[in-house]
Amino acid sequence: MNQGLEADRTLATPRPGAGFNFRENKMRIAAGLIFAGAVSLLASSAAWSQALPPAKGPAPAPQAAPAPAPPPAPVSTRPPCNNPDALGIGRTVEIDTTGGPGFGFEHFKELDFLRDKEVVLTFDDGPWPVNTPSVLKTLAEECTTGIFFPIGKHATYYPEILKQVMAAGHSIGSHTWSHAALVNKKLTEQQRKDEIEKGFSAVKWALGGKAPAPFFRFPALQHPPEMVTYLGTRNIAIFSCDLDSFDFKASKSQTIIDNVMRKVEKNGKGIILMHDFQKHTAEALPELLKKLKAGGYKVVAMRAKAPVQTLAQYDEDIVKDLKLPTVSSRPVSSVVQTISE
Ligand SMILES: [Zn+2]
Repeated sequence: MNQGLEADRTLATPRPGAGFNFRENKMRIAAGLIFAGAVSLLASSAAWSQALPPAKGPAPAPQAAPAPAPPPAPVSTRPPCNNPDALGIGRTVEIDTTGGPGFGFEHFKELDFLRDKEVVLTFDDGPWPVNTPSVLKTLAEECTTGIFFPIGKHATYYPEILKQVMAAGHSIGSHTWSHAALVNKKLTEQQRKDEIEKGFSAVKWALGGKAPAPFFRFPALQHPPEMVTYLGTRNIAIFSCDLDSFDFKASKSQTIIDNVMRKVEKNGKGIILMHDFQKHTAEALPELLKKLKAGGYKVVAMRAKAPVQTLAQYDEDIVKDLKLPTVSSRPVSSVVQTISE
């Protein structure tokens, strides 16, 4: 579980895996709380080479203090698809997140935009060494794409891995700062908002100052109604799911494959919840994607019409928290050179 990596971090984080994904007290909220947003079709049968990096909306207003400079934003290095049998991307849809639309029939029933045999791949709790790069490799081999919901703290631990997610052209949202259960009554309303806002600012920082999509997933799919309303005022879309892989409970990869295929065959389509943080998920993905392809399923890419507008206060908090260097933002390759080995 790579837990040892946590020990020497300056920022304490709950041990990933311990205390994650509790499903008790799951709250189901009325779909009526959500303002409907729009889903628009960008392109049918988008070829891999046509798939675009996350939406290029207007740049967010420069609200944060200018220094220290964030690391440079990644440049897409995605290779062309050379796999004629790849799962690929069936179509790409653009999401207008105005008013905070909700997706995923487990909680939100209004926006039924997927056609029969269409799926959306989603990955939570990263970025994480080994497992996230493995998921990226599999998605690249299958010339397909997903939405990643990173934890803010994890993004600050492994910004280079999150940059790889963006460089590969996947959509990136956020999954709170520390994976706190936002239904926890011990948290004040302000602390809940902080978890949401700081999560987005951390992801933005990790991406070199490029704001992610206004896509949010609540930890353990627990939706406190007042935070659902708040996200609506922030024009951030909420992602529940249609099919839960329960990969965090699986002791082997085959269980995940069986869970997903059984549910997708029953539902006929859906947003699939998985975790790039989990080793078994990374191991299951090659076979799972082959089975989806063989079953005639098509992956839908969801892009945001415009990036999230982070709040300057939280962007600044991240910089302060991380005690970032203020003198140099040069990349490692320009600072450290191997001169013999
Ligand atoms: Zn999670």
